[in-house]
Amino acid sequence: MNDDEIKSLKTYSCKYCKKNFSRSVNCRYHELHCRPRKPDDVGYRHDVQFGRGHERNGDFEEIKQGLDHLFVTYRKKLTHDSDTDQLQSAFKDALTVLQKEVAVRSGMKYYFALKLTFRKAIDANVITEPPVVLQTDPMRGLPGNNYENDLDKVFKGILQQIDDFESNGSGWVAHEFQTLDLKIVTYTPWTS
Ligand SMILES: [Zn+2]
Repeated sequence: MNDDEIKSLKTYSCKYCKKNFSRSVNCRYHELHCRPRKPDDVGYRHDVQFGRGHERNGDFEEIKQGLDHLFVTYRKKLTHDSDTDQLQSAFKDALTVLQKEVAVRSGMKYYFALKLTFRKAIDANVITEPPVVLQTDPMRGLPGNNYENDLDKVFKGILQQIDDFESNGSGWVAHEFQTLDLKIVTYTPWTS
């Protein structure tokens, strides 16, 4: 049994109804709606239409969290090719996680880190080692934001960074997109 399999057996239970979840954010999101509420408590919760891969969170798996979920890192494994359509679709898959995370936090900052390799255009055997990590600018996430638009912006930013790397004069071209990390930290503008 490898680490991934052990991790996937971990369960989280709702503190109200004891329902089990294999993913932490799914449990916390469920608790928001399961929590007993006073009739006049409308709260900040928004019922949103989640993206595809709802239960599996678009295959973004939590790999790290700290300070009682103050920060969390998700990772999606990519297809190890240089297909930018696939890459765009991977960014779109982050929609569900962002929508759930903002619901349980009420405010956050987030950015992506893309791990990829480049190869020399003139010699396919020369590959960047270690792989290159490109980070997107931090984005602010609040309930009610249009995360589809924001993800589109973020994706265009990363394409630009790839272009910049390829046109820096060293003759590199994108080779394999490996992993996409999504890093989220709680951030509420009115408390800082
Ligand atoms: Zn429950």
